[in-house]
Amino acid sequence: MEERYDFRKVEERWQRSWQEQKTFKVREDSSKPKYYCLEMFPYPSGRIHMGHVRNYAIGDVVSRYKRMRGFNVLHPMGWDSFGLPAENAAIKHGIPPAKWTIENIAYMRDKQLMRLGLSYDWDREVTTCLPEYYRWNQWFFIKMYERGLAYKKLSYVNWCPSCNTVLANEQVEQGLCWRCSSVVTHKELEQWFFKITAYAEELLSYCDKLTGWPERVLTMQRNWIGKSTGVEADFTVQGSGERLTIFTTRPDTLYGVTFMSIAPEHPMVESLIEGTPHAEEVRTFCQRVMREDKAERTDEKRKKEGMFTGAYAINPLNNDKVPIWVGNFVLMEYGTGAIMSVPAHDQRDFEFARNYGLPIRVVIQNAEKNLDPATMKEAYIGEGTMVNSGPFDGTPNGTGKEKVADYVERRNMGRRTVNWRLRDWGISRQRYWGTPIPIIYCEACGVVPVPEKDLPVRLPEDVELTGKGRSPLSESRSFRETTCPLCGGKAYRETDTMDTFVDSSWYFLRYCSPRESAAPFDKKAAGYWMNIDQYIGGIEHAVLHLLYARFFTKVIRDLGLFDGDEPFQNLLTQGMVIKDGAKMSKSKGNVVDPDFILTKYGADTARLFSLFAAPPERDLEWSDQGVDGAYRFLHRVWAVVYKNIERVRDVRPAGIEARGDRLYRKTHLTIKKVTEDIEREFHFNTAISALMEMVNELYDYTSGGVEERQLPVLRSAIDMLTLLMGPFAPHFAEELNASLGNKVSIAHASWPTHDPEAIIASEVTIVIQVNGKVRSKVTMPVGSPDREIETAALADPKVREYTHGKPPKKVIVVQGKLVNIVV
Ligand SMILES: [Zn+2]
Ligand SMILES: [Zn+2]
Repeated sequence: MEERYDFRKVEERWQRSWQEQKTFKVREDSSKPKYYCLEMFPYPSGRIHMGHVRNYAIGDVVSRYKRMRGFNVLHPMGWDSFGLPAENAAIKHGIPPAKWTIENIAYMRDKQLMRLGLSYDWDREVTTCLPEYYRWNQWFFIKMYERGLAYKKLSYVNWCPSCNTVLANEQVEQGLCWRCSSVVTHKELEQWFFKITAYAEELLSYCDKLTGWPERVLTMQRNWIGKSTGVEADFTVQGSGERLTIFTTRPDTLYGVTFMSIAPEHPMVESLIEGTPHAEEVRTFCQRVMREDKAERTDEKRKKEGMFTGAYAINPLNNDKVPIWVGNFVLMEYGTGAIMSVPAHDQRDFEFARNYGLPIRVVIQNAEKNLDPATMKEAYIGEGTMVNSGPFDGTPNGTGKEKVADYVERRNMGRRTVNWRLRDWGISRQRYWGTPIPIIYCEACGVVPVPEKDLPVRLPEDVELTGKGRSPLSESRSFRETTCPLCGGKAYRETDTMDTFVDSSWYFLRYCSPRESAAPFDKKAAGYWMNIDQYIGGIEHAVLHLLYARFFTKVIRDLGLFDGDEPFQNLLTQGMVIKDGAKMSKSKGNVVDPDFILTKYGADTARLFSLFAAPPERDLEWSDQGVDGAYRFLHRVWAVVYKNIERVRDVRPAGIEARGDRLYRKTHLTIKKVTEDIEREFHFNTAISALMEMVNELYDYTSGGVEERQLPVLRSAIDMLTLLMGPFAPHFAEELNASLGNKVSIAHASWPTHDPEAIIASEVTIVIQVNGKVRSKVTMPVGSPDREIETAALADPKVREYTHGKPPKKVIVVQGKLVNIVV
């Protein structure tokens, strides 16, 4: 052991050793319990950021801890490596996306992740942009196509008329093209979809079984799936007689409809406005709204805007004629794309009605409120009695819901229905850097899936990326032109590629047998490793990625490849890394580059800081002092071990016979605390602060020199401290572990357990009162006889002051607590 802690030497040595010894390589072993720990894999942008460091440090502590607890731990890493940035880099700098991506991966793996000392089994690395991986995306697509779970339909895309190209949502910046700043329009294209809605009910009901997930994430998933039960009612358009169907969860308010609102995307907009004087104005309005972000459009705080189409609808219940408006807050994706507006009982409708001077009609009256449309300040959404509702007047609205629904069904005005917010998953991307969709179009045979034996459909390399024109693959004749697998005739390939969320929907299964070539994964291996015991990633993936992965898992189950319903047993969504009050981002200029921290302080300090500064689920505020503090702590541990190592090297550690010793007790208290904090929701911050306290005790204990008889206790304290630090600062702990003469890597050492006997307090503090007033305290061994306590109390100098040395009238001893001396 060297005198000074030189993190460069230490970290390099152990990283090399782990690699050479394949310390973290795992295989199935039925004799051991398994543990599958997974962090969401990164996009290889070229550099990791502090958020990654935090994410992987958390996962690494969990993995290392579980390994020391005797689990067979699967802890893999890979690359979510298809996607837009590679394509953009190609457009800007002319680098082929494959080259750019593979170089980024090499840098991030070898120069960044390797340097963090993460305990991955690198032999299981999965890279989604390689044909050996994406061929299985294509295979899944075909299986889903055969089962009707992959289908094609017309759908809107963002379209830049001047680049003449489809834009991804992230390429639309405030309604403008990211390249040329033209106004983005919408265009209908044939798109491929996965029928996730076929699993809506199961995806929703299983939310109740995911007890290891944060409630917040489950709520987001439930809302996203959005099941609501209600009634579809058929209004008719006056004049044309066209049917305009609306969905409502409040059939009890059907008599209160004073206008209709339809989405700007609604297919009937054109027929409603055609030939009217303000047709053009409405068209312009619709185009403008359609360019806006949908989440923003429905934001509660957003101003509700609309235009009258000039057409009217007839309410089937009371034959009322109500105007049909186009509203910016109505989305085609929800319900039927048309809603009935009941301003008296819906706040959004209320604001809209007030804004445009539309009538308000109360149909749920509350005796205490005495609602009057003329004076109402807001919509009334509470309980009440139905009024202005024809045959239902006087009915409490709770039961009225069912009665109106019955009435609507009986008279064929509509039907009860369940509505889902969840839409099918559009997977077509008019991009190059993704998985080609394995479909061939033949004039004679129609849509023909690529036969399994012809997979993978490889991405061609002769594609020039300009960012303009049609989908890049459609420009490659060698790719596009093919022969029909059925009739041998001339045919064309699908030139769209898949959404990259497909790649991340099953990669966790691939890790179980990453080199499998006859199937996406080996069923037996997946049977051993799945489910993922702990999944860790950012809250930004709470909905899409996690929902798609759950969907894929269920489809894979139904294909007979996997016996399980859900992939992720426990989920931890870690907080963000923030600096100066904001998330680290280039645009804010508050980014701390992990490379800088690794070079200046080393990986163990970076890990320790990011684990110590906040519990994992909370945001972590970056602090330079915090980093310094972590660095100093490691130096402090090093120094105290170095000072004593020669004397303790050949000493047998103390056992329970040392139970009276304060360092021995502190050691066992620390083992208990650290273990409990890790087990209790991974509260690494308090675990680390317990280690710091133990180190303080170690300094105290050794400050005045250590006697020979104290060496066994000192040795056991240093041993335990080393083991407890293993998951947090692994290089550092390996170095101490080796210096103590241990030959086996600390990664495979056993996690210590505390001895309950060692932490029972050996002394007790007893309060001394004189005439009922607290005057002093005395420390006694636990279980001392009353006589000894009395003697000690009377001998106390403060007590003597108050008793003036006279013999007491009476002494009362309350065992283990206090002594009262009456004089
Ligand atoms: Zn453009
Ligand atoms: Zn054919």
